[in-house]
Amino acid sequence: MRLLTMRKPLQDVALFGAIIAVGAVIFFFNPATAAFYPKCLFHKLTGLYCPGCGSTRALYCLLHGELREALRNNALLVLALPLIGGVLLARALRRQPPIAARQSSLGWLWMVLAAIVAFGVVRNIPCRPFLSLAPPVETTGK
Ligand SMILES: [Zn+2]
Repeated sequence: MRLLTMRKPLQDVALFGAIIAVGAVIFFFNPATAAFYPKCLFHKLTGLYCPGCGSTRALYCLLHGELREALRNNALLVLALPLIGGVLLARALRRQPPIAARQSSLGWLWMVLAAIVAFGVVRNIPCRPFLSLAPPVETTGK
């Protein structure tokens, strides 16, 4: 247990550094044109959009202040970023959630998983208004 508590600051620094490094790569290299970004294997195999399709392009757009384009590429990611940021900030500040929140964390996990799966299903429905949830064709799979 002591080993786990001693590692936490180092883990936080490593996580923060990784986020900054990945953010810098995405900022400087447009996913729509750079060839080194991985393609979505799910999309490649099925032709369907996974919940993550368009997320790298969405982050690129956000980092360049293009909120509308970011939402077009992956609305779920853009809408979830404040929540993800809050979780990371709470972790960094070492705030322990209240006991009730800790006990219901499995419920939250299932809700988040359900939202991700639902987004993945809905964005593949080939009619309006769901078509707007699919990423633009030029950014598919990044
Ligand atoms: Zn995908």
